[in-house]
Amino acid sequence: MVAKDTKIERLAKRLADARSRRVVLVSHCLLNQNVRYLGGAKCAGVVAAAVDPFIRDGIGLLQMPCPEQVAWGGVLKRYILRFYGSERTLTYRMRRVLFPVFRLYTRWRYRSIARRVVDQIADYTRSGYEIVGIVGVGDSPSCGVTHTLDLERALPVIAGIDLDTIDPPTFTERAVQACMVEGKGLYVAALQRELTRRKMNVAFLEY
Ligand code: SF4
Repeated sequence: MVAKDTKIERLAKRLADARSRRVVLVSHCLLNQNVRYLGGAKCAGVVAAAVDPFIRDGIGLLQMPCPEQVAWGGVLKRYILRFYGSERTLTYRMRRVLFPVFRLYTRWRYRSIARRVVDQIADYTRSGYEIVGIVGVGDSPSCGVTHTLDLERALPVIAGIDLDTIDPPTFTERAVQACMVEGKGLYVAALQRELTRRKMNVAFLEY
């Protein structure tokens, strides 16, 4: 093993190149607004203000998976869309049973995503790279670092929307801003738990 490590070190010196050996992990939607909830994209594609400082400093961007895309039914998060305007349906009346199951399922899926992401962090660290931090997204029920969404409070709002008249500003104001609370999103919490379990320390930032 020692000989192998020495060989890698020699090669890394011989083949030294332009890389900064610094990487920041970013929430998926900061590089791709196409995965945002309907009505929630702030720009066409990349959120330049969130990543420009890292680009200027020569820091590589590692795009994490969008946990809601993975766990909540794809780009459109179809499992959640079922609740939009569902006030008078059986699905909504069953919410007291469905919601805890949904939350447990989400935690289970997020733990597995977090494990794979922390595997990548461990690989970079073991290889002598610096992980500058993890950038989450404020107000997200999944990626919030200091501000998240109270899903239980948002659910009746979402269920009560009128599908024929709703628009992005109204939806964001009622279902997101009015339901915002202090705290971590479910995915960021899963990441932090996994980092702690593996005795790793990475700074979290919120955009
Ligand atoms: S879950 Fe995270 S990555 Fe996905 S859209 Fe929400 S904030 Fe962005």
